[in-house]
Amino acid sequence: MNILLAEDDAILSDALSSQLREAGFEVEHAPNGAVAEYLLLKQTYDLAVLDLGLPMVDGLTVLKRVRAAKPTLPVLVLTALDSLDDRVAGLNAGADDYLTKPFDFPELEARLRALLRRTRPAGTALEMGQLSFDRDTRRAMLGTELLELSPREWMLLDLLLTQRDRVVTKEQINQAWATDRSEAPGGNNSIEVYIHRLRRKLEGSGLAIRTVRGLGYLLEAELAGA
Ligand code: CA
Repeated sequence: MNILLAEDDAILSDALSSQLREAGFEVEHAPNGAVAEYLLLKQTYDLAVLDLGLPMVDGLTVLKRVRAAKPTLPVLVLTALDSLDDRVAGLNAGADDYLTKPFDFPELEARLRALLRRTRPAGTALEMGQLSFDRDTRRAMLGTELLELSPREWMLLDLLLTQRDRVVTKEQINQAWATDRSEAPGGNNSIEVYIHRLRRKLEGSGLAIRTVRGLGYLLEAELAGA
């Protein structure tokens, strides 16, 4: 597993590089945003760890440019402060996960391994709880029953499933819906209406859509008996 670590703090990046190598990863280090962008666009990595506060080109800009060229590259962003704005901006720019400094190395390692598991390609049908979701045949099943979804509900569920265990922001939902002409455009209220409808359709499926206040929504497996 080949990681690009973009971090300008020399002490932190030295420590992280050696810990990551000990954990079995290959690591390349970029000390600023310009080098990070150059390497990420030129080389192939399994994963990127990207500090948002980078000199020359800031981490968010790097992320946006790289995301456009490499939509499937898993990216974990590091934020200096526990700032909601930074996290939201990072998620909106296409980060798959974030970690707030300071953090313990075992937490970083656990998140990187989870990211790698999540982004590895599987079969065409996504399975979660009772739900089977097949993009090729455009069919969603709950157990043995066909789940009827409107185009927007389909897109919403697709997004939630793709980012399972990660927050989907309202901005991401609006982006996913931007190309859809099947229903009249609406603001944030209509997202809430669709979330509500989808929740009702998923009742009894073992899946729950959790509202993360100020951030967005998260699809997760319900605990047994909950
Ligand atoms: Ca920094």
